[in-house]
Amino acid sequence: MKFLLFISLLFVSTAIYSQAPANEPLTAKPLKGEGIHSLLQRHHINPAEYIGEFMTLNPGKFGKDGGLLEHHTYVLPRTTHMVTEPLFGEAFKEVTVGSKLLKGATLFLVSGHGGPDPGAIGHYGANDLYEDEYAYDITLRLARNLMENGATVEMIVRDPNDGIRTESLLVPDKDETCLDQPIPLNQMERLKQRATTVNQLSRANKNGYQRCLVIHLDSRSQKEQLDVFFYHHQRSKTGKEMALTVRHIFEQNYSKHQPRRSFSGTVTHRNLYMLRRTTPVTVFVELGNIRNFRDQQRFVVENNRQALANWLCQGIIEDYQNHVRGKNK
Ligand SMILES: [Zn+2]
Repeated sequence: MKFLLFISLLFVSTAIYSQAPANEPLTAKPLKGEGIHSLLQRHHINPAEYIGEFMTLNPGKFGKDGGLLEHHTYVLPRTTHMVTEPLFGEAFKEVTVGSKLLKGATLFLVSGHGGPDPGAIGHYGANDLYEDEYAYDITLRLARNLMENGATVEMIVRDPNDGIRTESLLVPDKDETCLDQPIPLNQMERLKQRATTVNQLSRANKNGYQRCLVIHLDSRSQKEQLDVFFYHHQRSKTGKEMALTVRHIFEQNYSKHQPRRSFSGTVTHRNLYMLRRTTPVTVFVELGNIRNFRDQQRFVVENNRQALANWLCQGIIEDYQNHVRGKNK
């Protein structure tokens, strides 16, 4: 029974943005005496950002003083739009971009292992859990969350026929690629390939906030339950800042959802190839021990995979906001 408790511990807190279906124009009638600002605000539309578009959408519908006319119907600017990302699979490929929190941010997401290399393998009852499949599913979920918030996302490791999967046992395969290139078996070549890919994409889009996140599960002894660990390059102050920010979000979420559990995940520097060789600021995450039964619940329960992605996304949003506020450059 102990583990059932654990399963229910992580909650999904997906942000949901509701607006009319994509093709229907949103319309509204002003209240008596209502001004443009108030009308927009009443519909959760930021006037500072959308007033120009509102004027363009409603030609000839303004009084001499430029105000709204009673009994007229106004078209409202659409603050969400849809994008399609086939990598997320049939059920998840339509993405509603409903927030601009990450507008201007570019994230390079590298899920660990893949192709001929399954990464760590954990035994789970009669089944095996493969690190690369779980890391990939969580990375896809993170990518989708980031896009919902307006980020540009580059999925470095890809699997065209594994979208986001809802089942608990993820069937392993070996057809992941690095963008569209086959992944070599040799570890050094494999890492070099993905670091080079990140760096090339980064160069093509040099301005603004760029971060790289490398996502792994870990493999320790079966007995060892692990929290989520964050690594940065020894000399990267910005990487350390980001790792601390994301860690803090995990701590907050754990204290909200599992108040009796203390979070011991750490931020440390490590001399890892992917931290040394990537030009954008990079944080390397290890999400738990794939061989430990309790940690395995974090991966086999779909909602927990989603929660990990949500929390990583929240952490990145926080880091981006710190960046925009000029706290870290
Ligand atoms: Zn790994």
